[in-house]
Amino acid sequence: MKPRQKLTLILSLSLVFLVTLIATLFIITNGKKTNPENNTASENQSEQPKESEATPEESPEETPTSTEAPASLVPDVNPTTASLPGGNCTTPLGKLMLINANFTVDGNFISSRRNQLIDLTATYGITEANSWNGVPLLDSEAASHLNDMIVAYQTAYPGHTMQTMSCFRSYGTSCGRLCAPTGTSEHHSGYTCDLIDTAYGNSLDTDYYAQHIDWQWLKQNSYKYGFIDRYPLEWAGSSMSEPLNVNANGTTGYYETWHYRYVGIPAATEIATGKYNNGAYDSLEHYLKSLGLVKDLQSGICN
Ligand SMILES: [Zn+2]
Repeated sequence: MKPRQKLTLILSLSLVFLVTLIATLFIITNGKKTNPENNTASENQSEQPKESEATPEESPEETPTSTEAPASLVPDVNPTTASLPGGNCTTPLGKLMLINANFTVDGNFISSRRNQLIDLTATYGITEANSWNGVPLLDSEAASHLNDMIVAYQTAYPGHTMQTMSCFRSYGTSCGRLCAPTGTSEHHSGYTCDLIDTAYGNSLDTDYYAQHIDWQWLKQNSYKYGFIDRYPLEWAGSSMSEPLNVNANGTTGYYETWHYRYVGIPAATEIATGKYNNGAYDSLEHYLKSLGLVKDLQSGICN
């Protein structure tokens, strides 16, 4: 072979090699661009850190989880209340627990729940209007939200003070229609307070509702702080028949304009705006049934 021919051959081979190399590189680069979609699942489960540049592109594709609106409100089991003895099938739900005539708790639950609560006066300076009731006790998350709510009320009405008129209670009351016997009272939950601004009177009586700016303000605003009007008139059920229990549809048997219950802001918003009640204020009973968290409101069955 002549040197010239040799050179031509070498040049041709180099050219072929270069073209092949470029083609290979092109295929690899293109392949990388399309692959992340397929890799997403396995990357998330096993080794994410390797391709950090791919992560920002992937995140929009993961959003389907958060668009499932109902899932966000199905509560996790709350280890704090789930561990308590003597509860009912809803007490593991924590702030969505139901305590009424058909979903009862026993003395073990009541005494152990008491130990999980904090002193509202010592922590936030919130005072109890009736000294006979002792120190006002509440769940710490609920207490923090109650404090925010009271501050908002007192800012809206300078010079006024919102007080509790019994929060946690170890014992029920047995005075008939407006009272709940031990084991059936929501005051055992640690999420409830009766509230009052004594500037508008110091008795808990629905006849004075029209004069109570505090109760009207609470009805309008409490859900923003995770609290609900727990016993609105619309859900009281048939009047004055005793004993008044919860019916299958979700009546409460009570009408108490001062009784507020912490359920967390998302649930409170859905209850106050009637997501499952055609836009009208819901009852906790009816709400839980609509969510499928309780099955039978009369026999106290969850599933
Ligand atoms: Zn009450």
